Amino acid sequence: MKKLILIFFAAIYFLSACTTKPKPKTIENLKAAYKLELEESAKYAAFAKKTRDEGMGRLAVLFQTVSKANKVYAYNCRNELEKLGVKPDSISPVFQVKSTIDNLNDAIKNETDKFTEIYPQYIDEAHKEKALEASKVFEWIKNSKMDRSVFYVDAIQSIQNKTTNAFYTLYLICPVCGSIYYPVNAPDICSICGTNKQKFIPEG
Ligand SMILES: [Zn+2]
Repeated sequence: MKKLILIFFAAIYFLSACTTKPKPKTIENLKAAYKLELEESAKYAAFAKKTRDEGMGRLAVLFQTVSKANKVYAYNCRNELEKLGVKPDSISPVFQVKSTIDNLNDAIKNETDKFTEIYPQYIDEAHKEKALEASKVFEWIKNSKMDRSVFYVDAIQSIQNKTTNAFYTLYLICPVCGSIYYPVNAPDICSICGTNKQKFIPEG
């Protein structure tokens, strides 16, 4: 019985340490990620418009899908901030729109920087502060971004091969983590967060 009581109090202590301990670095990173992902969402929406203006309506759907998926990332960061009692800052996106091919190359570089440097650092710092939920959100964003290069590479190849008229026009977005799939090879459950395919949102 004594042992059970001890375990009970240890569990209470652990839970309260996780929820009440100040998490300054995690809060700073969640704010930065929220801002980053909302700005990126606006940028990809502008890329979609540019691609449409260049007569590649099918490729524009990819940028449009990425723009929406980034809003899921931003929503998840805002949600974590609210759980920690913090209101996110407002944003005013500033970005540059180039040609579609340059935008695609920028997207590859940009996403690669996020999953190789920025988000691994955020995950590490969240772990140190025992902010497990925030760490999970950062992990989802990092892993989801790793999978995105495939779409950009396919799009670049279609421009080079002059086959943009036959490019994909439909994608599936996981509403929980923001991962994107081609419908033809979407898994039964999201490979990043485990959400059932039935809940994926079609975009296109
Ligand atoms: Zn998911």
